[in-house]
Amino acid sequence: MLELRAQRCLVVGGGGVALRKVEGLLAEGAVVTVVAPEPMAALEELAGSGQILLERRPYRPGEAAGFALVFAATDERETNRQASHDARARGIWVNVADDPDLCSFQLPARVRRGALQLIVASAGKAPFAARRLRQLLERRFGPEWAEWIEAAARFRRAVRRLGLPPAERESLYDGFFAASVDEARLCARVPTAPEQDELLGPPAAATPAPAAAAGAAAGERGARAPSADAGLVSLVGAGPGDPGLLTLRGRRRLLAADAVVYDRLAAGVLPTELAARVALHCVGKEAGHHPVPQEEISALCVRLARQGKRVVRLKGGDPYVFGRGGEEVLALSEAGIPFEVVPGVTAGFAVAGYAGIPVTHRREAVRVTIVTAHEAVKSGGPQVRWDLLAADPHATLVGYMGVASLPAAVAALLAAGLDPDTPAAMIERGTTAAQRVVRAAVARLPEEVVRAGLGPPALFVIGPTVRHAAAMDWRSRLPLASERLALVAPAGALGLELELGGAELVELPLPVTAAARAVLGASTVTGVVLHDAAEVDALEEEREAQGWGPGVVAWCLSEDAAQRASALGYRRVELVPGGAPGGRLVEAMAAAAAAANVECGTGMWNVE
Ligand code: SAH
Repeated sequence: MLELRAQRCLVVGGGGVALRKVEGLLAEGAVVTVVAPEPMAALEELAGSGQILLERRPYRPGEAAGFALVFAATDERETNRQASHDARARGIWVNVADDPDLCSFQLPARVRRGALQLIVASAGKAPFAARRLRQLLERRFGPEWAEWIEAAARFRRAVRRLGLPPAERESLYDGFFAASVDEARLCARVPTAPEQDELLGPPAAATPAPAAAAGAAAGERGARAPSADAGLVSLVGAGPGDPGLLTLRGRRRLLAADAVVYDRLAAGVLPTELAARVALHCVGKEAGHHPVPQEEISALCVRLARQGKRVVRLKGGDPYVFGRGGEEVLALSEAGIPFEVVPGVTAGFAVAGYAGIPVTHRREAVRVTIVTAHEAVKSGGPQVRWDLLAADPHATLVGYMGVASLPAAVAALLAAGLDPDTPAAMIERGTTAAQRVVRAAVARLPEEVVRAGLGPPALFVIGPTVRHAAAMDWRSRLPLASERLALVAPAGALGLELELGGAELVELPLPVTAAARAVLGASTVTGVVLHDAAEVDALEEEREAQGWGPGVVAWCLSEDAAQRASALGYRRVELVPGGAPGGRLVEAMAAAAAAANVECGTGMWNVE
């Protein structure tokens, strides 16, 4: 790392080792003198073409003085020692080949990709090892890193122009790194121009751009608040549980947020790569258990927005379907806070779809009603017209918050004349790896639900199309339908393969982010997919995390990973084929899971 351009450097010795030092110095633009009684031909040539000064004689004591840097590479230890002594006596840096005791610096092995240099050194103890490591890195680091380091330099300049405080700068750098480096595979890519803009964040937040310009930049990139300092609250629907069912717009808002206020049921869809600067506020909300009262949630959103923040209020399913989203928006509106609504996939339709139940079907079900029995019964408010619903044989009835209210709802429907043989189902944690389904004729559904022990969140579906579930349930047939697998991000082709196999994935960036931990904690992780020992080590701390129980299976794609996982005490370690996608992995995992008698395939009680 020394700047050697035009610096006078001395190389003592005339063999191959000396030649390599000379070449290295010339590459750095140094002015090189070589002292050697019998220099090899290549050195003679360099002297002949005027590239070095060559003194064909032994080293003279004291001669090292007057150089900026000295190398000794003769095969006489005495000469080397003399040169080293002379240099050190004058405070000149000296390196003696293969003799660390005589060195004031060592030469590292080096991999170069443009301006990027990777240095491997062993404090002179094992140069051979450093060289081999260099060769390994040479193979692992592709040529794209040269472009990447230039892009990083441009990004740095752009960030510095924003004049942010150091912590914010670092978090933008974190974003650049996360977006452009595949840490598991050691690949890099240059982010596209729009991606870079996105990473740099809203122009209005960082530069004193006029308000009009900030307004013009609104749109897909996150609608900017009308006034420069007012924040924005995006009420975002998280969908029913499967993280893939969050909308693209919702995801974009999350990635651009300063703060996220989320319900526990929605935690699973947080982007795991969410930057550390994004404040995460979990406001609970589970059936029968509201740790943060509704008014406080609204007040929190108002307060954050008044600080000029972009706030995402993340709610399960669709925010306006039995989620009290309307109340929250009224509160924002009254407080004069700019807001927007990003609808979500509501549980009633998606959960039914994942369980093989079409909510409408030609000639069979031409109306769908979604109800929540719960509130009506509890509050004495407007009541569900069970009598009208019972009289409609060509309709599907979807009941949210359905566990506690199911017996009363069924009793009311039957009393109003509903056919007791109408097909019905209750689905718990639909669309997720923890999905369980109970199907039965409506009259028997309540008792079967109790028998199976279903609990919230769950909903019931009653209607003629439920009978199609036997044929249309695509999901519980998937070999990995009950698996919630953690793996190092980005999951790439492997992730797709696992997802097509039915697994729910949690992609963990390294180092693991707070958002990723929140996602892990949203539900039980059944397994972790590990490429190599380094990944096993990198995820070691996460084994303490919420959601990651002692039963987590280590699915190892290499011997190396398997050995490390066993050594670290994973209770079950399975070596499975990695490499090219093609279903072999999924098959092997399904077979191993079956062999270990682990329940595989969604829980299903079909008692029709
Ligand atoms: N706004 C949400 C519903 C909130 S009410 C939406 O549009 O989906 C919460 C109820 O939704 C739960 O009690 C349950 O009945 C239902 N629900 C939400 N997620 C569910 C899931 N994954 N599986 C089954 N029911 C679910």
